[in-house]
Amino acid sequence: MNKNVIIDDLKRKAPNEAEFHQAVKEVLASIEQVYDENPQFEANKIIERLVMPERIIMFRVPWSDDEGNVQINQGYRIEFNSSMGPYKGGLRFHPDVSLGTFKFLGFEQIFKNALTGLPMGGGKGGSDFNPKGKSDSEVMRFCQSFMTELYRHIGANTDVPAGDIGVGGREIGYLYGQYKRIVNRFEGVLTGKGTGWGGSFIRKEATGYGLVYITQHWLQEHNDDIKGKTVAISGAGNVAIYAAEKVIELGGKVITMSDSNGCIIDENGIDLALIKQIKEIERGRISEYTNTHKQAKYSTNRNDVWKMRCDIALPCATQNELDLEAAKALQDNDCMVVAEGANMPVTPDAIDFLLENKVGMIPGKAANAGGVAVSGLEMTQNSMMLQWTPKEVDDKLFQIMNTIHDQCVKYGKQPDGYVNYVKGANIAGFLKVANAMVDHGII
Ligand code: NDP
Repeated sequence: MNKNVIIDDLKRKAPNEAEFHQAVKEVLASIEQVYDENPQFEANKIIERLVMPERIIMFRVPWSDDEGNVQINQGYRIEFNSSMGPYKGGLRFHPDVSLGTFKFLGFEQIFKNALTGLPMGGGKGGSDFNPKGKSDSEVMRFCQSFMTELYRHIGANTDVPAGDIGVGGREIGYLYGQYKRIVNRFEGVLTGKGTGWGGSFIRKEATGYGLVYITQHWLQEHNDDIKGKTVAISGAGNVAIYAAEKVIELGGKVITMSDSNGCIIDENGIDLALIKQIKEIERGRISEYTNTHKQAKYSTNRNDVWKMRCDIALPCATQNELDLEAAKALQDNDCMVVAEGANMPVTPDAIDFLLENKVGMIPGKAANAGGVAVSGLEMTQNSMMLQWTPKEVDDKLFQIMNTIHDQCVKYGKQPDGYVNYVKGANIAGFLKVANAMVDHGII
């Protein structure tokens, strides 16, 4: 494989998609050897086909705000790869997104979904709409307009979107309502639905819980346990909150959380009930935490979350949020393992530093796959028209995270015994997808 030719070609065709180029580069570096050992991959031009989405859909989303002004946003859905099953991946509503963001997220999703062992292809989508500061009626009108175009491209066996940044239970509800109204069918076309109308128990908690389960497996591999460990978490959204919940339940102490304005540090252990009140119910700012918890510190430097002494770091906010300087600070503070709750939160130079210094580094493809895994279980429950109990789903999630962990160890173990989880996850996911693509012929 000539990875430089492939990357250069992507850069030439779309120079503004730096995050996508970064994601492809990381995968190619990991899989180069297995690719070259399997001549059928080169003969079938697997990599050249894998880096090109099967389909990109871009559309106009017009809606009216509460003052009656017409607003227009850009909608996207990337149907990246369907070798393993229907396209599957979240919708992100955030003002900073671009086509490159969705290509990076969709590309990562292909391998992550393959790692879960469930029949799901890779996709991603969303809009540059910013739900922050909008009324419920504005969010509803936007979601209805977005779905009025998207509905024709998706379906329970075709493409099954879910939530991501800016798309939670409220947005999924409005999107689903509009889909159902247009097609006149009640079917499993979105995941992350309310548990009273087709959603799976534990879906909301799944990414955060799964992240902690795989971290626990990593600790077991090192004859250790999460009990008594100090944990630094970034973000205060869906992934961060439920990662914190599981850490606390298992006897660990969470000392930091953040939002896009700043971070809080509470060495007594974060009061998660208060965080849920501020972020989930009031949709407020994390700085409000110190109004009642005077011992906690607030900083407008979000990177301060990585400057505390901690055993475990769980970046759960957004891409490229943990840089080389932060990785060095974590190592200086004896951090044992970094597990990515967000997609690509650790920068490439920070990953290299952690790997070189033999600090544990579990990549998002493996570490945050719990969310899509339970989405896959939601699809199964929908197609069987039944609902499993929370315990049944949680047990399955635990098992899936265990299997993902073991695949990383299988393909990432180095001669000196150190496990490179980045390499392991990339190879395990890639082999499944590549073999399926070979089986399907040139399509
Ligand atoms: P949410 O929108 O629920 O939460 C994101 C959180 O991160 C918010 O608290 C937000 O703050 C904060 N944030 C955003 N940018 C920054 C920043 N630069 N520094 C610090 N905090 C920041 O999203 P999710 O929790 O769902 O997603 C978080 C990450 O996890 C994303 O990378 C997503 O792709 C990934 N992921 C999510 C899955 C899921 O099931 N939800 C599944 C797999 C991956 P504010 O409140 O100010 O906006």
